Amino acid sequence: MTSHLLDKLKRPFSDLRISVTDRCNFRCQYCMPKDIFGSDYSFLPHDQLLTFEEITRFVNAIAPLGLRKVRITGGEPLVRKNVEDLVGMLRSAHPDLEIALTTNGSLLPQKAQKLKEKGVNRVTVSLDSLEDEVFMALNDAQFPVSKVLDGIRAAEENDLLPIKINMVVKRGVNEKSILPMAEYFRERGHILRFIEYMDVGSTNGWNMADVVPAREILKLIHAVYPLEPVEPDQPSDVAKRWKYQDGRGVIGMIASVTDPFCGDCTRLRLSAPGELFTCLFSNKGHDIKALLRGGAPDRELANFVASLWSGRSDNYSQTRSREDSQPGDKVEMSYIGG
Ligand code: SAM
Ligand code: SF4
Ligand code: SF4
Repeated sequence: MTSHLLDKLKRPFSDLRISVTDRCNFRCQYCMPKDIFGSDYSFLPHDQLLTFEEITRFVNAIAPLGLRKVRITGGEPLVRKNVEDLVGMLRSAHPDLEIALTTNGSLLPQKAQKLKEKGVNRVTVSLDSLEDEVFMALNDAQFPVSKVLDGIRAAEENDLLPIKINMVVKRGVNEKSILPMAEYFRERGHILRFIEYMDVGSTNGWNMADVVPAREILKLIHAVYPLEPVEPDQPSDVAKRWKYQDGRGVIGMIASVTDPFCGDCTRLRLSAPGELFTCLFSNKGHDIKALLRGGAPDRELANFVASLWSGRSDNYSQTRSREDSQPGDKVEMSYIGG
């Protein structure tokens, strides 16, 4: 049974992002800056994370509310031990569920095959430049480009397709990487998505001046490789897609700052310690772990989520410039799940 659960802005529920860890082996300056997430930073102890059984139970309970897709994320999801077992559990309970995973790619060479075998449909790999100097300044973990490319190759070889590549663009940091990235990926059948640098969390020192608007990126690429718009597959696609007029590939623009898409937002986010968030920019989650560990039956979990969704009116990106829209201390992306 699938219901058509609508929120206050008439948006249906269909997607769940599941963060499996708040930890990461990178320290991307726009997400987990090292001066905050340094060696003395306290990550969550393991017993505070939802177990795979708990996550699966939650997914089982809310599946009848219209769930079509889950995305496993973090932090870096592949640093959570045996994360592929979670995929296997979700897949056996839900043969038709779309299961995607977002990763920095570093551990894909070891993990791609297992992820495929256990039931991941496709992966998104983040990569912000093809130049080591630029990429290492961004990931702040001395991680070279070639190893992410190895990860992308492993995903390709294991048929985790189509592969999307996420590139966050930050003014004065990796603008010069836009064209080389477009050039490289347009020949390879992967969908490169340019993401406007966002004001998630409170630690990355976000400033509007650091945002390179999607229309500027588009103009730059279009001048060299002419583009034309592609009709969206589903209204909930966060990326607006464009194809090269010469037929050599597709790119996406995630203009969350300059052209927000809250009107089509169909997502809930479950954090690693089991709080449920109705918006990426929420400052308050809802305690699912307490319900799960307190023995709440599936029906109670489903009712809780249904009433949360019915009362949802989040549209932060559409109102971020208004002074009264600031939600205070926002939750970090590595915690809530990007
Ligand atoms: N560690 C994985 C990765 O990097 O792909 C998954 C989690 S990460 C938080 C998910 C996505 O969010 C990545 O593509 C990352 O580049 C993006 N991201 C992180 N901080 C961001 C920010 N401030 N603005 C825009 N995108 C951001
Ligand atoms: Fe880690 Fe992903 Fe955040 Fe980079 S964007 S620090 S890889 S969680
Ligand atoms: Fe969805 Fe919130 Fe992002 Fe708007 S700001 S698209 S409501 S997560």
